[in-house]
Amino acid sequence: MIKESSCADAHDPAALTVEAARQQILDKIVPMSLTEQVPIRSALGRVLAETIISPVNVPAHVNSAMDGYALSGTGLPAEGKMHVYRQIGRVMAGQTFEGDVSRGNCVRIMTGAPMPVGTDTVVMQEQVEVDGDQVTIGSGHRQGQNVRQAGEDMAQGDAVFQPGKWLDPADIGVMASMGLGEVSVVRRPTVAFFSTGDELRSIGEPLGEGEVYDSNRYTVYGMLTRMGCNLLDMGVITDDPAKLRYAFEAAAEQADIIITTGGVSVGEADYIRSILEELGEVAFWKLAIKPGRPLTYGSLGKALFFGLPGNPVAVVVSFYQFVQPALRYLMSGEAKQPLLIPAKALSPMRKRPGRTEFARGIYTIHDNGEIKVDTTGTQGSGILTSMSRANCFIVLGNQQGEVSPGDTVTIQPFVSLV
Ligand code: AMP
Ligand code: MG
Repeated sequence: MIKESSCADAHDPAALTVEAARQQILDKIVPMSLTEQVPIRSALGRVLAETIISPVNVPAHVNSAMDGYALSGTGLPAEGKMHVYRQIGRVMAGQTFEGDVSRGNCVRIMTGAPMPVGTDTVVMQEQVEVDGDQVTIGSGHRQGQNVRQAGEDMAQGDAVFQPGKWLDPADIGVMASMGLGEVSVVRRPTVAFFSTGDELRSIGEPLGEGEVYDSNRYTVYGMLTRMGCNLLDMGVITDDPAKLRYAFEAAAEQADIIITTGGVSVGEADYIRSILEELGEVAFWKLAIKPGRPLTYGSLGKALFFGLPGNPVAVVVSFYQFVQPALRYLMSGEAKQPLLIPAKALSPMRKRPGRTEFARGIYTIHDNGEIKVDTTGTQGSGILTSMSRANCFIVLGNQQGEVSPGDTVTIQPFVSLV
């Protein structure tokens, strides 16, 4: 059985720091190697599994970057001079101009149209005067201006993307511009998750005395969905060791990662750690963090196991600080550093050295570029609306003591967590 610990919040020298715990987690993970071929639209948000070499030049031909007049840049008018060119034709995007353009002549050209033979310069239509086929151009132009070179975006044979890249909308556009229809991506990891607790009810059931709706499965669902995982929602399991053992084993058979919430403290109905010790391996279970101290991490069969605390805010904090980096590394082999930026505290914050605290904050960017941050108010780990109201974590590091207004603190914007 689990030994009783002393005071829950006391400084515990055996507790791992957030950084050490994150490192231990990553050290255990072997990035996934299974891949699948998908159409490029379906590759959005997925992790690339191959090197993308451009099969073509993009753009394929030298073309105009402006609507205007294509001409030879040799002998452009000198300072204070004007030349009259004769327009001998026009070329639109998607067309080609037949014939040569000799010096003194020009061709009306639209953005994206290939440069006619004999031209290397485009003068914007706003910078000329037109009278019939007479086009008057002044000085101040440069040979080669307003022209896009073939292959200036990507040259044929360029290695454009490397494996491990998370594909965003611009990336799938880049692949389309090369004419690629399908791409190889890393298979989605399967994540099994369930909530534990006798007091939990599901939506649609009436709430009895002392009962709460199971919200953790919804926040976990949301965070996993955004990460692009295959989800195995196993529902709510009561605090019954036999049922929990059964759920553990079922999850381990199918999942790459198992996430539970609740039952990891040292209360009488907290079985998660002892069952993981029995069926798998516990790597650590005490962290110098608030909220989220009693997180249990280890492995079960081939799956990584995260026993998150039950408190709804602790679930979100520990997911973002530990589970998400683990998933990222598993999927891409990339150990991404959290985005941490300095901000000026607007209000005092209580803080004790010896653990890292993740307060929920609201930052604002001021006209002078200064970033200021305030807490969302009450910071109880059951106050899930504090997460909803916040736009960042205020990360108060291990050594940090009390914070006074005007002090510089570190924030982790939620936009960087997706
Ligand atoms: P535990 O870690 O099991 O001791 O739970 C800590 C607190 O979190 C208790 O107040 C639980 O009722 C609450 N809790 C646990 N699981 C959930 C859940 N899935 N949804 C909402 N609250 C929960
Ligand atoms: Mg419980």
